[in-house]
Amino acid sequence: MAAEQAALGEILRPIRGRLRLAVAAQTLSAIAGVVPFIAIAELGRVLLGDGADRSDRAWTITAVAVGALFVRLALMLAAGALSHFADDELQSHIRRGMVARLARVPLGWFSARNSGTVKKAVQDDVDAMHHMIAHSLLEMTSATVVPVVSVVYLLWVDWLMTLVTLAPLVIGLGLYSITMAQMAKHLPDYDRAMGEINASAVEFVQGVAVVKTFGQTHRAHQKFRDAADDFAAFFLSWVRSTVHSKAVAEMVLSPIAVLLAVVAGGALLVTGDRLAGVDLLPFALLGVGLTAPVLALFYASYELRFAKAAAARVGEVLNAEELPVAKEPRTPAGNHVSYQGVRFSYDGEKEALAGIDLELAPGTVTALVGPSGSGKSTLATLLPRFADVTGGSIGIGGVDVRDLALDDLYRRVAFVFQDVRLTQTSVADNIAMARPGASREEVIAAARAACVHEEIEALPRGYDSVVGEDARFSGGQAQRISIARALLADTPIIVLDEAAAYADPQSEAEVQAALSELTRGKIVLMIAHRLSTVVEADRIVVLEDGAIVEEGTHPELVARGGRYARMWQAHERSTVWQPHRGTPDPAAGTAQVGGISR
Ligand code: ADP
Repeated sequence: MAAEQAALGEILRPIRGRLRLAVAAQTLSAIAGVVPFIAIAELGRVLLGDGADRSDRAWTITAVAVGALFVRLALMLAAGALSHFADDELQSHIRRGMVARLARVPLGWFSARNSGTVKKAVQDDVDAMHHMIAHSLLEMTSATVVPVVSVVYLLWVDWLMTLVTLAPLVIGLGLYSITMAQMAKHLPDYDRAMGEINASAVEFVQGVAVVKTFGQTHRAHQKFRDAADDFAAFFLSWVRSTVHSKAVAEMVLSPIAVLLAVVAGGALLVTGDRLAGVDLLPFALLGVGLTAPVLALFYASYELRFAKAAAARVGEVLNAEELPVAKEPRTPAGNHVSYQGVRFSYDGEKEALAGIDLELAPGTVTALVGPSGSGKSTLATLLPRFADVTGGSIGIGGVDVRDLALDDLYRRVAFVFQDVRLTQTSVADNIAMARPGASREEVIAAARAACVHEEIEALPRGYDSVVGEDARFSGGQAQRISIARALLADTPIIVLDEAAAYADPQSEAEVQAALSELTRGKIVLMIAHRLSTVVEADRIVVLEDGAIVEEGTHPELVARGGRYARMWQAHERSTVWQPHRGTPDPAAGTAQVGGISR
């Protein structure tokens, strides 16, 4: 909570001065807003009293009331304008800051989060803060100032009567706090019940095909229904336990209850000669207005909590660690890739890579194989700097990748991974991402080579269709677009997760052609899933627990009789090739055709 508070403070810093000004204006406006009520009360006291200069005083009071109304209006507008302008500037400041920061964080930062989290921070959380700054802050100011000013005035009129007026407020708030505390006590139960219902809903939906196939709809329903029933029962008892005290609290806090207290208590004091009858007027007028702002404060505190959590998430994006860039970038001589003693750990404890030495010579294809979790993706993603090595170094043409200018690095290394992200721009722009200056002909040529041209042509606006609007792609299509992107980028080094390429079984032959086109004459580092790729690779690197346990060509490795040979033998026996132990490989069945039956 303290951290969230600090995050909010930090984010609001650039507009703090103006917010203070807005709050000051709102404070004066709230005071001016109470003045007419006080004036009316005073007017009553003057007119019902028996001073000699009643008429003069009445007119003075009326003039003050009218003046106060105008002052209130002007100050309220000023406060609103100030806070809205400040909010506007803050929003654009935050969004610009986020975009700038997101452009400089390592790509691995995105892999570790889903796009929903980032979208939430950029969009929803900034909105939540807008509401807090532009609305809640001023509402809270009024809700504090109005009761304070009213009570000060009432105390000046009569302190005992003020206490009588405040009694319902104190009792009501006490009841309210008890109710809230009771509700909060069961909040974890609520979260748990809600979690259960969500989980069984997800389970139900995910399994729906299987369930239907086996005619188990009723049983699967049952689990979801039970969870829903449990939740309903819990919710009912929860609400029931607090509903009475909440209703009583709200009743006590209602203007009628306050008025009742004022009239009844006032009657006692007046008949007991403790108070003049005319002095009841201020309490009747101002007392009834006391409860509404106090309740508003209660609700606003919820919003404030919301805004603090939002600020913490926004802060996380704004303060995300940047990928360090070289101050004096160096230019590599050639594109020979060299991993030297590369170590990497995601969490600073367990090593995903424990000392990798690997050379990728121009014109060669290197296939990475090994069980799931052995470090293939980590090894591949370090080259385009999804993250930086925690030990050792990766060099291109004799220069550490960290010493290359980023655009130079991306001119040399293209990557096609499983997690394809297309941006919400035209399809053409998506393909030309790495070469924004490319002509339409070049874009089309790349799309053709990646076997996705026809599908793009079939879209409502062809290459000008916008992703997410009138262009929606299947996983396989998106991946072929990313192959087109890599083709157009025409980099000398390609890092590729083969699984990415074969998401659509129907277009396999086409993708195979696209891949051969993409990788011809390039330095290729490929997480291999298909036997044909593995067998034909210039070099096979077998990973296990973050270390290279074997490397060589297919015949060499088979002859060596080690781990790879065992995988191969197992495959020959079963004719099912699974370089990815643990994850069934849909490509395996077809790969064997190209591989073993040759
Ligand atoms: P492979 O590609 O061979 O399946 P990975 O490179 O994905 O293997 O994973 C290597 C190790 O690093 C595994 O132990 C995995 O659990 C861990 N790992 C992978 N990605 C992350 C991540 N984003 N955060 C933390 N650990 C990770």
